[in-house]
Amino acid sequence: MTDFTGKHGLIVGVANKRSISWAIARAVAGRGARLALTYQGERLEENVRELAQELTDPLILPCDVTSDEQVAEVYRAIGREFGGLDFLLHGVAFAPREELEGPFVQTTREGFRIALDVSAYSLVSLTRGAVPLMAARGGGSVLTLTYLGSERVFPNYNVMGVAKAALEAAMRYLASDLGPQNIRVNAISAGPIKTLAASGISGFTSILGIYRDHAPLRRTVDAEEVAAAAAFLLSGDASAVTGDVFYVDGGFHAMGM
Ligand code: NAD
Repeated sequence: MTDFTGKHGLIVGVANKRSISWAIARAVAGRGARLALTYQGERLEENVRELAQELTDPLILPCDVTSDEQVAEVYRAIGREFGGLDFLLHGVAFAPREELEGPFVQTTREGFRIALDVSAYSLVSLTRGAVPLMAARGGGSVLTLTYLGSERVFPNYNVMGVAKAALEAAMRYLASDLGPQNIRVNAISAGPIKTLAASGISGFTSILGIYRDHAPLRRTVDAEEVAAAAAFLLSGDASAVTGDVFYVDGGFHAMGM
């Protein structure tokens, strides 16, 4: 099993116990990593602090990714406490609820801006902040979470599909920029999982049914299965993997019909 003893990581995207980012936090902490966890605003602080009680000596910090100042403060705190950073997990996405129902052609300029800013640009700004701390460790690993809606049309996924396409492209450009510093950047494309973010997508339950009927494994995936793949990509075991979208979706992406 991948060992994270002596490694430090930043996990951005825990809202509650169903968050994929929380499953990933547990997987890497269970293998020895010490973590910084962020929460988006006071509303989620209590959830994150309560969950983090099962971690050893975590650092808990506020971070709304639309605030450059909060992002900068996260890295100042990590620099003080950890002195460097080995990995970053980006598990953040948002679009206004009204953009996730009805025809995509109705997407508003503001809905488009918000979805792309929170869900795609945040990977760029968070990765940029991590670079000096990862360089101090001789390299690092950045991982983001995406969905097949970036490549194919899923009803109601709408502007989030466009944001995920931008996210995956950003991942590749970052991998190209940062490879010479031994910083790897990858994405996991996860199958649908019932979480807070997923509940914002109109008709999400019917997507689950389609995976059960058509994915090669004839089932959906759970957050722990995504976390196991994430632990691999965040670790030195994946030392030659960068710029990749890795599918943890029961094989659904392989199907034509
Ligand atoms: P989630 O709701 O638990 O996580 C989304 C997180 O984004 C939350 O922690 C929320 O606080 C955070 N967030 C939103 N706006 C933010 C902001 N302005 N600043 C800081 N944080 C902000 O849901 P999840 O399903 O675990 O989502 C995690 C990631 O996985 C997302 O990128 C999502 O698109 C992706 N994903 C989810 C599924 C799925 O079916 N659940 C499938 C594939 C990919």
